[in-house]
Amino acid sequence: MFVPAREIRERFLRYFESRGHRIVPSASVVPDSDPTLMFVNAGMVPFKRTLLGEEVRPYSRATSSQKCIRVSGKHNDLEVIGRSPRHHTFFEMLGNFSFGDYFKEGAIDFAWELLTQEMKLAPERLAVSVFREDDEAAAHWENGIGLPQEKIYRLDEDENFWSMGDTGPCGPCSEIHIDYGRPDTCTSEICDPSCDCGRWLEIWNLVFMQFNRDAEGHRTPLPKPSIDTGGGLERWACVFQDVRNTFDTDLFQLPLERAQTISGVNLGEDEEKDVSVRVLADHARSLTFLIGDGVLPSSAGRGYVVRRLLRRASRHAVFLGIQEPCIHEVVDAVIDEMGAAFPDVAERRDFIRSRVRRDEERFLETLSKGLQILEDEIQELSAKGETVLPGPLVFKLYDTFGFPMDLTADVLSGRGMSIDQSGFESAMSEQKTRARAAWRGSGDEAVAAVYQRMANDLATSFCGYHSLEAESPVTALLVGGHPAESAGQGDSIEIVVEETPFYAESGGQVGDLGSIASAKGRVDVEDTLKPVEGLVIHRGKVVEGTIALGDVVQLAVAPETRQATVRNHSGTHLLHAALREVLGSQAAQKGSLVGPDRLRFDFTHDTPLTPLEIERIEDLVNEWIEVNAAAQTREMSYDQAVKSGAIAIFEEKYGDDVRVVSFGTFSTELCGGTHAAASGDVGLLKIISEQGIASGVRRIEALTGLGALRHIRKQERALDEVAQLLKTVPAELPSRVGRLLEERRVLQRELDQLKRAQAGEAAGDLMQQVREIGGTKVLGVRVDGIDAEAMRTMIDDFRNRLGSGVVLVASSLGEESGGKVLLAAGVTKDLVGSHKAGDLIRDVAKVVGGGGGGRPDFAQAGGNDASKIDEALERFYALVEG
Ligand SMILES: [Zn+2]
Ligand SMILES: [Zn+2]
Repeated sequence: MFVPAREIRERFLRYFESRGHRIVPSASVVPDSDPTLMFVNAGMVPFKRTLLGEEVRPYSRATSSQKCIRVSGKHNDLEVIGRSPRHHTFFEMLGNFSFGDYFKEGAIDFAWELLTQEMKLAPERLAVSVFREDDEAAAHWENGIGLPQEKIYRLDEDENFWSMGDTGPCGPCSEIHIDYGRPDTCTSEICDPSCDCGRWLEIWNLVFMQFNRDAEGHRTPLPKPSIDTGGGLERWACVFQDVRNTFDTDLFQLPLERAQTISGVNLGEDEEKDVSVRVLADHARSLTFLIGDGVLPSSAGRGYVVRRLLRRASRHAVFLGIQEPCIHEVVDAVIDEMGAAFPDVAERRDFIRSRVRRDEERFLETLSKGLQILEDEIQELSAKGETVLPGPLVFKLYDTFGFPMDLTADVLSGRGMSIDQSGFESAMSEQKTRARAAWRGSGDEAVAAVYQRMANDLATSFCGYHSLEAESPVTALLVGGHPAESAGQGDSIEIVVEETPFYAESGGQVGDLGSIASAKGRVDVEDTLKPVEGLVIHRGKVVEGTIALGDVVQLAVAPETRQATVRNHSGTHLLHAALREVLGSQAAQKGSLVGPDRLRFDFTHDTPLTPLEIERIEDLVNEWIEVNAAAQTREMSYDQAVKSGAIAIFEEKYGDDVRVVSFGTFSTELCGGTHAAASGDVGLLKIISEQGIASGVRRIEALTGLGALRHIRKQERALDEVAQLLKTVPAELPSRVGRLLEERRVLQRELDQLKRAQAGEAAGDLMQQVREIGGTKVLGVRVDGIDAEAMRTMIDDFRNRLGSGVVLVASSLGEESGGKVLLAAGVTKDLVGSHKAGDLIRDVAKVVGGGGGGRPDFAQAGGNDASKIDEALERFYALVEG
């Protein structure tokens, strides 16, 4: 018997179509409605909402062959790929679904008829298992189908009971197995379908979604029970092609052949090499469909899985002795096989090939650096006549260059050398100890080390472009910078999860705020940051209950703050584009800050912007807002993006893949930030300031949306108030204020004249106190509360009035000054031969507890005892008298 896989797929779908099922094309491997899931890993995932009753479809029966990816978790361990006869990172799941239509009996009847009538499988080869308590299913297999009782196995909950989660829909299932006959090697007493001796191959699982399970574990019957079934196409191919290993089915032949041709290795000659050839074929399949569905290699989240698969495949290629990038060739073979069933990957062939090739090239470069180091070391060892590579070096190759130990060992064994295995292991454990110490340490460096360590293991994927909410397990928890198992109310903490809708501060956009909650507690998130690429830290405080490592939490971004930030970010892009249009493309971005309340944009430009330029920029931005152009987001290579005219900021680091955000034809920019759906969402953009911040760098601050409106309204209110005070309307203010200023100038002039006249009068009064001492006119007066400048003017005035004479003015600065005294002395030119102002004031100042001095014609001094001013004046007269 030989039925090609593509015919199995076709016949399965047609069978169910002819029995009232809608053929639903495979959904993307990226789940679009389930943020808790990294990849679609079963045929029911795209129907989840329908099965939960949250979504109604125009049909109640469906069938599909769904692309599935399993790369981690309980379902798959990458190390078994190529060794296990039936595990793959990519597979197809055939399935039929009933949404409240037929149930148990219908599902069993269809399955049996399809396998034995349509596919002509001998009934004797089949056995089934049912859930121990599911008498209905057991009875129908026995009485409805006529299967002998000994072929119906009743198994426990862990084998034959299915649930969507801890709560929600669940139910018993019934599995159909091929029985290959008990091998001599089986040691089990019972050897039922749960035995792993190789006797059984599960080909179909029929899930009877029958109950709803609540938080206490109580099961209540669902009003409309549903059916979800799944059978791996690869396993079916084994059955209908009479082979025991899925790699021997036609699905894998083209990629396996390609891998053998490139490497010159033939399957069946060396067990370890067989594994590598199979890994190449397996990983090429998952890479084809992952990249085909838009998941590109990157350093975080889903993209990181792609990169890991690619590098893993590449290392196996190196192990096979392939020197050049080759995975894209195997990918080509995969598309040859699968392109007919999945035309979208056939269409994207060139893109998928080139992405795979580019990433592999880069990886091989790193690898070749490592090989070079290894080569140097080998030379050195041979020179010393040694044959064992020290453990720390093996570890360095592993840690820094991603060189697996077995690869190093392999290179060495070809040269008659070996590695120091225990040395490698102790270097590895030292590294772990260092990492643990770093966890415990304190200070910035220790925290940075903690973050780095976390980033290596806990890449967070970001789902916040389209969603503000997600559910995800807590993968790390820091309290006060130290790793912790749990945190309680009042603790300031940092949380890491698998997938988050929170945008971490980067590219100028501030981090999101919001809340993280589980059934047990709640955290207010005050900031979100990305201390290391790929690692997202939610920083905040536990405001209720407790939060613990492993808790499944609901993450919710505060929508208003995010939306305000989004408007400002999109506004920044429009502003940037308008600046370039009005000032020229030399107006390059130097920095930006985008928060919920405002935006700030620094750019290179030599001169202050004129009001007209600012107006033109504002007009342009607001015209673009008015046309309401939809935002378009695309991922592409950096080169492609720059070629397409996207604005890149040259000081910013970009990965190979960039996100390009554009609005209409006017703004296209490389950006990882969150954006409005259309330019119109910005609402309004108003520049509120423009200033120079460094040589050749200007800064603009602007507001958008309601923020801009509020700002304008505030300005308007201030104008109204001023107008009211002036009893006029805002439009009249300029001329009104002009007139007021003119009036003020006139009044000031009059006031000055009056002051001068008044001072003259006061001086005239004081002239009454002039004494004649030995034919010299001498005047010592006290004028409190005047400053040094007024004192100097006064001295000049008295000298003029006296014509010839000696004068001293003393002033108390008042109690609040602490009794401070100012003194100034003046001598007219004709008398400087006999009286020196400087000498006089030095002596007088001593009386008020101070000192000072100056020229013969003018001198000033200070003191700090105002109570002695009269005494000082008497001392002055006495000094002049001699
Ligand atoms: Zn067994
Ligand atoms: Zn941006």
